[in-house]
Amino acid sequence: MKRIVIIGGGYGGLLTALTARQHLLPQEAEITLINKQPEHHLVTELHRLAAGTISEKAVALPLSKLLQGKHVRLQTDTVVRLDPNVNNITMSDGNKLGYDYLVVALGSQTAFYGIPGLEKEAFTLKSIADANRIRAHIEARLDAYAAEGRPEDAAIVVGGGGLTGIELVGELADAMPAWCRRRGIPLQEVQLYNIEASPDILPGFEPVLTERARTSLERRGVRFITGVPVEAYRDRTVWLKDGRAIGANTLVWTGGVQGHDLLKRTDIDLLRDRVCVNRFLQSTSHPNLFAAGDCAYSLDEQGKPYPPAALLAWQMGECAGYNLFAAIKGRPMRAFEPVQSGKLASLGRKDAIASIGESRTLLTGLPASLMKEASKTRYLAHIRALFAYAWE
Ligand SMILES: Cc1cc2nc3c(=O)[nH]c(=O)nc-3n(C[C@H](O)[C@H](O)[C@H](O)COP(=O)(O)OP(=O)(O)OC[C@H]3O[C@@H](n4cnc5c(N)ncnc54)[C@H](O)[C@@H]3O)c2cc1C
Repeated sequence: MKRIVIIGGGYGGLLTALTARQHLLPQEAEITLINKQPEHHLVTELHRLAAGTISEKAVALPLSKLLQGKHVRLQTDTVVRLDPNVNNITMSDGNKLGYDYLVVALGSQTAFYGIPGLEKEAFTLKSIADANRIRAHIEARLDAYAAEGRPEDAAIVVGGGGLTGIELVGELADAMPAWCRRRGIPLQEVQLYNIEASPDILPGFEPVLTERARTSLERRGVRFITGVPVEAYRDRTVWLKDGRAIGANTLVWTGGVQGHDLLKRTDIDLLRDRVCVNRFLQSTSHPNLFAAGDCAYSLDEQGKPYPPAALLAWQMGECAGYNLFAAIKGRPMRAFEPVQSGKLASLGRKDAIASIGESRTLLTGLPASLMKEASKTRYLAHIRALFAYAWE
């Protein structure tokens, strides 16, 4: 019997486990899924948790429930070391686990680009704990502002105008009126910034959609600063490269992601800190190692690396899961050829933008919001987790 070990129970890891088990009988392969926490996190909903518009239970789905009856061994543990040359991994308590096939689905980490003060002082949005911290901090700062009136307590800066940063400012903009009303703070006294180093927000979206996103968010009080990098965060001030300084007690940094630190301490072939894989998602240095999700460096037909995205992680998981079966049974593997169903970004509770399908049909407002919700429902139905809606 072959031993398959999957590290990471996010989109990539969970789908690898479910797909591998669809094809491999329990007596053909023992599958172990190791994840830091006992739940599968709906990372794509974290901005809503940070703004308090969804409950924690609706975004933290017990893996034991999702894997019930699937004959997948679930281990809640943190992997601290990979030794792909001797086929084992090490847990935080020092225990080792051997494998015949390893799937690395560790996700990504926030990239700080060495900008002084960011790593120590800024908030990140990568986990449920991060989202809870952001909400608690912003609410505490608003309490302080109501009591003492220091402007930096009412200033919130979101660094990074990609999907995560924009979805977060959209939710915060929608939550702010109620937060302010509760504390008797005039809404116009709150300063909510989005700062992006590139000339525009939401790279990859059609210009007409980014323009729509900007105007929608500006109408709800978001101030954009684009084309100017953040230089440092110190003394409760966000310093910009052009000399501007914004006093802010809250900086959430969503400016970029990078591969997992764990990978850097191995001799696995890496590109931009991610596992370099062939078109079968198999490591180019270790053929019994596959990667799925944000931590895989995989190229599209134009030779460009796939961006970090949940929809891609899901499909990579399915591809890696199938290819584990193919490798074990000596069948031809399948190349990773994802269906690109489009791009979606929520701009708060009632607004969104979308570019759908190969034809790139552009949607805004309610139809785009409905598409966004439909995409989540499709995922939840796929992993048999529609129960999550009961907790919203
Ligand atoms: C706020 C926000 C909104 C987003 N919105 C969208 C969107 O609308 N559409 C979209 O396509 N993408 C979106 N993304 C990006 C998307 O969430 C990621 O691309 C996706 O989560 C990647 O899936 P993954 O399986 O690679 O990693 P993850 O989902 O991050 O899963 C990795 C798992 O590995 C576990 N892990 C990490 N280290 C260890 C370790 N050492 N030992 C054991 N386990 C470990 C983690 O706990 C986690 O469970 C968004 C991201 C954010 C933050």
